[in-house]
Amino acid sequence: MKKLSEFQLIDQLKRFQGRSPRVIKGIGDDAAVLELDARRYQLFTTDMIVEGVHFLKGAAPRAIGHKALACNISDIAAMGGVPSFAVVSIGIPRGLSAGYVQRIYAGMSALAKKFGVSIVGGDTVKSDRLVINIALLGEVEKKHLVLRSGARPGDRIFVTGPLGGSLKSGRHLAFIPRVREARFLVKNFKPTSMLDISDGLAGDLGHILKAGNVGAVIDADRVPLNQGADFAAALADGEDFELLFSLPSEKARKLIQCGHQRSGFRFCEIGEIIGSPKKLFVRDVDGRRRMIEPKGFTHF
Ligand SMILES: [Mg+2]
Repeated sequence: MKKLSEFQLIDQLKRFQGRSPRVIKGIGDDAAVLELDARRYQLFTTDMIVEGVHFLKGAAPRAIGHKALACNISDIAAMGGVPSFAVVSIGIPRGLSAGYVQRIYAGMSALAKKFGVSIVGGDTVKSDRLVINIALLGEVEKKHLVLRSGARPGDRIFVTGPLGGSLKSGRHLAFIPRVREARFLVKNFKPTSMLDISDGLAGDLGHILKAGNVGAVIDADRVPLNQGADFAAALADGEDFELLFSLPSEKARKLIQCGHQRSGFRFCEIGEIIGSPKKLFVRDVDGRRRMIEPKGFTHF
């Protein structure tokens, strides 16, 4: 079989998706969007984490549980919504103690409590390595829904926090999903597009460019970096789980005026949406532009 990137594979699998009239948005965003009632949409997402891929064998069980749920909650945040109900399936290798599995669930449930999520079911199976899959429901007011596809030329691009080095530093196991930031934004400065950064800034911005058929310029010196990370790491490292979003320039100005103190959050402007479809440029300190590939971390 020819080797496919994850995204090529997802594209090919799209033709199998269901076509109920209740499906507002299927494959191709952070979560599926389903008709719920006159006022709200149901959000539905799933994420799987696998030993040796998303965490190492020696990782703390509580942290593994935290991460398994946090990356799902992050996808609900990326739609502007709030998470609600989760089912948890776990593949348990022979020899793993009941206490270890309980500590995984303790990590999960502490985060669930913090974000109002109820774990309401799941499945346990034997497996060669530890695997956790969570399916999570959420909801969002129709007027607050944000897709990946709405970015327009002239919009400013923002992130909710520093990028890069998440895997090396262990932050990928401990991050807090940006639900509060997302809710603040959709209620006050509704973004034109938004997603959570799981594959690195370049790759995830690439999704926004593709979905909106637009391009972007990133200002290298404005991208906030984690300690020990450089700009290249911010572009390519996965699993930062900060939100990346675009705002019309007028709203962007107001968001910046509103500032850290009044919002309580840190929103960093890092660049601008432009007309050239799917073209991504980096502007260096001296003003020179170079084109880069909108590619980040690839899962396989
Ligand atoms: Mg996502």
